[in-house]
Amino acid sequence: MRKIIIAGNWKLNKTSREAMSLVEELKREVLDIDGIDIVVCPPFTALDDVSEVVLDTNIALGAQNLYWQDSGAMTGEVSAPMLKDLGVQYVIIGHSERRQFFGDTNETVNKRIRAALTHALTPIVCIGENLPEREANKTFDVIRHQCEGSLANLTADEMKKIVLAYEPVWAIGTGKTATPQQAQEVHAFIRQLLGKLFNADVAQSVRIQYGGSVTPENIAALIAKPDIDGALVGGASLKAPSFAAIVKSAKK
Ligand code: PEP
Repeated sequence: MRKIIIAGNWKLNKTSREAMSLVEELKREVLDIDGIDIVVCPPFTALDDVSEVVLDTNIALGAQNLYWQDSGAMTGEVSAPMLKDLGVQYVIIGHSERRQFFGDTNETVNKRIRAALTHALTPIVCIGENLPEREANKTFDVIRHQCEGSLANLTADEMKKIVLAYEPVWAIGTGKTATPQQAQEVHAFIRQLLGKLFNADVAQSVRIQYGGSVTPENIAALIAKPDIDGALVGGASLKAPSFAAIVKSAKK
C-alpha cells in the first residue's frame, strides 16, 4: 500500500511571519489526521521559522529547490546540507517553473536528485507536458524523455526513495485540471515506465502525485484513481482551510 502524500508548494509567497501564521492555522486544522504524509514547502527564507512551528507535528517540511554542490562559489544558491540543518525532509526538484524560467533541464534535475539523496532528503521530482505537446499527442514521449533523463543512473533502491509529481504544465495555476481519467492515464504510463527502467517492485512502490489546480472540490475524484497517490498543490495550499480540506478529502 502506498501512503498518500499531499504537499503544498508555496512558491514565491509568504514572508516568514505570514508563513508561521499559515502553518500555525494548518497545524490546528490537521491535528487529528494520521496515516497520510502532509508536507509544506515554504520559500527558503521561511524554512527556519516554519521548522520550529512544525516540530513534533504531523506536518513535514520541504524546500522548493536545491543546488547540487554542498558548498562553494555559487552565489545565491542553497545546498542540501543547509536544508538538512533546518530540519527539511523533502525537496521539490524540476518544477516546471524552474524548467521554464530558471534553466532547469533533465541533466540538472538529475544532479539535484543525486545531491538530495546523498543527504537523505526525499526528492519530489516534477514531470509533465505543456499544452502544445499534449495537443500534438506527445505527452507520453515527453514523460518518457523526462523520466529517462531525470532519473538516469539511479539504482532501484534509490528510485524507491523518490516521489514523482505528474504536473501537466497547462494545468498549473490555470484553474484547468486534468480530468481524473487524463491524469490516471499518464500515472499508469509512468508506473509502467518505472517497471521498464527499474523493476516491478519500484513500479508498485513509487508514489506519484498529481499536480495542477488541485482544489478541495476536485481532489476526491483524482485520489480515487488507482495510480494517483497524492497531490502537489500550489494556489490552494496558501490558505489553511483549503489545504486542510484537500488533506482531509484525500485521507478518505
Ligand atoms: C504547483 O505549483 O505545483 C501547482 C500544481 O500549482 P497549482 O495548484 O496552483 O496549479
